[in-house]
Amino acid sequence: MTDNKNQIQVYNTLSGKKEVLVPLHENELTIYSCGPTVYDWSHLGHARMTVVWDVAQRYFRYCGYKVTYIRNITDIDDKIINRAAELDITPEKLARHFTYTFWDDMHRLNVQAPDREPRATEFVSQMIDFIEGLIKNGHAYQSGSDVYFDVMSLASYGALSGRKVEDLLSGAREQVLSQEELAERKKNTCDFALWKSTTSIPNWQAPWGDGRPGWHLECSTMIKHVLGETIDIHTGGEDLVFPHHENEIAQSVALHGKPLAKYWMHNSFVQVSAEKMSKSLGNFSTIRDILKNYSPDTVRLFILQSHYRSPIDFTNESLNASRQAMSRLLRAVFQHSGEPKFGSINSHNSISPTRKDLAKLDQMKDEVSTNFIQDFDDAMNNDLNTAQALSACFSLADKISKESNQPQKDNWAGLLAFHLQVLGFSLEDSRRLVPPEIAKSVLDLILELRQEARSKKDYATSDLIRQKLTACGVALMDSPGGKSDWELE
Ligand SMILES: [Zn+2]
Repeated sequence: MTDNKNQIQVYNTLSGKKEVLVPLHENELTIYSCGPTVYDWSHLGHARMTVVWDVAQRYFRYCGYKVTYIRNITDIDDKIINRAAELDITPEKLARHFTYTFWDDMHRLNVQAPDREPRATEFVSQMIDFIEGLIKNGHAYQSGSDVYFDVMSLASYGALSGRKVEDLLSGAREQVLSQEELAERKKNTCDFALWKSTTSIPNWQAPWGDGRPGWHLECSTMIKHVLGETIDIHTGGEDLVFPHHENEIAQSVALHGKPLAKYWMHNSFVQVSAEKMSKSLGNFSTIRDILKNYSPDTVRLFILQSHYRSPIDFTNESLNASRQAMSRLLRAVFQHSGEPKFGSINSHNSISPTRKDLAKLDQMKDEVSTNFIQDFDDAMNNDLNTAQALSACFSLADKISKESNQPQKDNWAGLLAFHLQVLGFSLEDSRRLVPPEIAKSVLDLILELRQEARSKKDYATSDLIRQKLTACGVALMDSPGGKSDWELE
């Protein structure tokens, strides 16, 4: 891990350039990813964010790091409260429902569960302590029953997003302030809420009055309590850079004076006709709907064929192209006897393979294998360039299809399968997963053929079909009129 050949470089939003990944503690990485606000079905944009950071943490584990990966659940938010009111259910019930559907989507996409998944509502008392600390050291002020962060009190504010407080203020001054805005009791318009007073449910008791915490506060608080004051990597979608991540940094730095994260990594969007896919624009496809027509591995391939910092254009054609490309990879993996030759490691959603497991693979030390491993690692070490790593996989898949030496083919197929698993592919042979409608048509066809045999008094064939179907768990019912039907036993 320490030799130069395998040095990992990542793009750090904070410095605006690629940097060598040097953990705070040797061989350990603490990673925090901003998770979903659970008020609706997850869409392809969420799939991209979770898959990208799933691959990142898998790859770091593959390289031998002891990774602690945390992704939160925002289970209290105005969006949740408003949606719950529309549906006439409690916000708690709505959040619980969409937490479960999110987990279900993630499981189906083979996104590994984080090491911990704190929920905002579990950390309210720690958030209140956090605010008290900020008031005490002069970075926050009470206004009525609200509490605001005083942006002017922190000279470094704006470092992540490259915004200057003066610009934010002058921008705000140019606006014509409404009566409501004038009535707001902030010292400056860019100050943000740490505590919002409200008597509506849900609310919590605080020294300033009943209310709810501001959204930015939960991540700072969870990081402090679950991982520590400074972590190695903070990730999220690029739309979170400002104000969410900027405000997370401000709160944490103001409280303890140390950096919140050493590396800040951000993924780009999924776009539809050059616009970001989002719930508010109404141009989203839910993960659930996409998985009706495409396998989870196809969706993963679609996401990873672009570098995580480039936008992805979503069209059905591009998803179809990924499906064909996935079949190409699966054909190569399953080229031998229909069973992949894995290194006895991964199964669905389990522990990631590591380089140590790679050493256990019964592979030939031939030039093709050595070059493939090097190309894959070089691509991933270069700011997690999955697009390039996959192009190495496709080249190997092509070599497998052309190779006539069977042991060679088997070894390369094993090597390919292993590396696809490093990228989180489940390698379920989706080419052979039969959708229910097709299974039903095939059974109807078998019954038709049996009917034909019976009409020709070929009872040997008709009985054989019945026996074979019974062995598969399909029961046949022959009616007096000669018609037959089937059901599962
Ligand atoms: Zn966050």
